[in-house]
Amino acid sequence: MVKGIKHIAVAVRDVDEALKRWQAVLAVADVKRHHFEKARSDEAHFFLGDVQIQLCQSWDPDGRFARYITQHGEEGVHHVCYTIEDIEAALTQAVANGATLKPCSACRVIGPHKHSEGWVAFLEDKLTGMETEFMQIYKVGEGLDTGPRKM
Ligand SMILES: [Zn+2]
Repeated sequence: MVKGIKHIAVAVRDVDEALKRWQAVLAVADVKRHHFEKARSDEAHFFLGDVQIQLCQSWDPDGRFARYITQHGEEGVHHVCYTIEDIEAALTQAVANGATLKPCSACRVIGPHKHSEGWVAFLEDKLTGMETEFMQIYKVGEGLDTGPRKM
């Protein structure tokens, strides 16, 4: 059901300062910076091995990443996104075993919906200790854009 980890999102107070710390400890290279209007966040994305790390800073005190830091008292892993073969089947199984769907904080949609790289859905954090994101990566021609895809 799970093919791999797509990304690990880390809530940070200041993405520039956090990136410097990550670069000091790990061999971080090829950093891509993003300014997401809909999610109201500034992010630095890079790969460590096959897993993408996303350092995420909310613009607003009530943004999802700022709220995480307020709730936990420190920066930390906000969510893990798993690459899923069949998102409908994976969600059905997770919900049957006690998981609860939660709204996408960017789109306010509950359940599978389109993001830039694939179909996504979010689960409440009670079962795994953190927010869980499922992503079914688009096959060629299935996504919103027609440009070349990174993955
Ligand atoms: Zn969404």
